[in-house]
Amino acid sequence: MSPLSLLDYAASVDSLVATEDHPALPSRSAIAHAESSLPNKLPDLGFGFDALKEHLQRDITPALNGGALSANYYGFVTGGGTPAALFGDWLASAADQNAQVHAPNESVASDVDDAALRLVLQLVGLDENLFTGRVFTTGATGSNIIGLALGREYAVAAAGRRQNPPANPSVAQLGLHKACKAAGVRRVQILSSMAHSSVYKAASVIGLGHGSIIALPRSAALQNHGSLIYAGEVNTGRFATSGDEMLKIRALADTYGAWLHVDAAFGLPALLLPQTPEYAELTSGVANIELADSITSDAHKNTVQVPYDCGLFFTRHLHLQQTVFQNAPFPIPDLGAIPSAHNLGVENSRRLRGLAVYASLLAYGRGWHREVIQRQVALARRIAEYIVASPHYELLPTPEINKIFMIVLFRAKDETLNKTLVERLNQSGIIYVSGTQWAGKPAARIASWNEFYYMYIENSASVSGLARPRTRLSGGGAVQEGTFVVVPIVLSNNWCALPTIVGSQ
Ligand SMILES: *Cc1c(COP(=O)(O)O)cnc(C)c1O
Repeated sequence: MSPLSLLDYAASVDSLVATEDHPALPSRSAIAHAESSLPNKLPDLGFGFDALKEHLQRDITPALNGGALSANYYGFVTGGGTPAALFGDWLASAADQNAQVHAPNESVASDVDDAALRLVLQLVGLDENLFTGRVFTTGATGSNIIGLALGREYAVAAAGRRQNPPANPSVAQLGLHKACKAAGVRRVQILSSMAHSSVYKAASVIGLGHGSIIALPRSAALQNHGSLIYAGEVNTGRFATSGDEMLKIRALADTYGAWLHVDAAFGLPALLLPQTPEYAELTSGVANIELADSITSDAHKNTVQVPYDCGLFFTRHLHLQQTVFQNAPFPIPDLGAIPSAHNLGVENSRRLRGLAVYASLLAYGRGWHREVIQRQVALARRIAEYIVASPHYELLPTPEINKIFMIVLFRAKDETLNKTLVERLNQSGIIYVSGTQWAGKPAARIASWNEFYYMYIENSASVSGLARPRTRLSGGGAVQEGTFVVVPIVLSNNWCALPTIVGSQ
């Protein structure tokens, strides 16, 4: 790879992210056209790279949604990719390093991954000497599988140690049935308030099953038996614990031999927020998180601004992690100080995921990444204020602005409209929001991860106050009774579109 090709790529990244006025969703006809362009048969003779590029540009790209390119795409928690992150991500693919083994004399790849993970810990203020078990994953789902697998190993062994005579059975070695029998455990419970759907998947994958998850009210007590604990809620973005509750849960976990896992997929960056009254509900939600045995987060959501396929996993129990994820019947000693990633997670061969994280964190530093989170909170709260003030909408679960992090959940008060609200918003092509359910009724969910992205491009020397909207909205023109119009809300210089209903439906 010549230095020239790196520069060419950097230039192409700049032109990509500088695209203006990108729609939130592609038109139906663009999607139909793209679908019809997909070949049914593999050609014997390829049509060549140039023609391929043309095909992607002409047929496929216009049919992709505005996830990274539209200022009004508020679906999922997609996060952004800074130019530096895109550059790092591309370099990881182009250089195609296999970062599974720490091979200090062969490549610096695993050092980069580890440096990136340490930078993330420093970003959010967690002790890198405490969380020595750390690995990149494909996403928070992958991280939750690791966390629950470690919890299963830990909780069964802890129950075994309470036997008379004590046993120390390993699920990794004996399998779940034999280990539970040796430990006198008849069932393993996963206690959680508001578990994310991926935790159910993780419970299934690790052989405990969906039925092992017990949904608790926020302050229920732990029961005996091998237990794992989990915290977080995705629809409202609210935190499962606050203040010193983690201290109490930690004490309970220690008493009963439970493993404490925190799913901070998009909650972790709340650790970046200043300790001011404005953010008190949020910083309290992540208080004492370092007491967890393991923590899940997602760099590809909002913890770091990198493209998809980048989850984070941290644990204070490196040795246990290496026991569960050991990649051979007998341990192969690591070379050098950094533990090989193939003994830490599900994958063996792995891309150099850390490079994008490394690039974004070093290029823009803690200050900029903190500012992004503050802007996300500010935008979400501005939208929430609008909803609370509107006679037509209801903020869910409660109208408390100070609890809003970066998710705004709401519904239309008019039941008939509410049934089609998300569809109508998304069909407008102006804004994209996620549809969900709350208390048995349809609800809309806006995730404000999005508006920061353009700021850096505008002026790389100073990012604050220079944001410019990608999409300028006129307010919908003349407003007619009973129509559905889009009203722009201005937040400093960033725009967000929200629907309002004028008159009765
Ligand atoms: C998004 C999310 C997950 C799943 O993360 P993926 O990156 O999609 O695998 C898990 N838990 C919570 C709380 C989430 O928000």
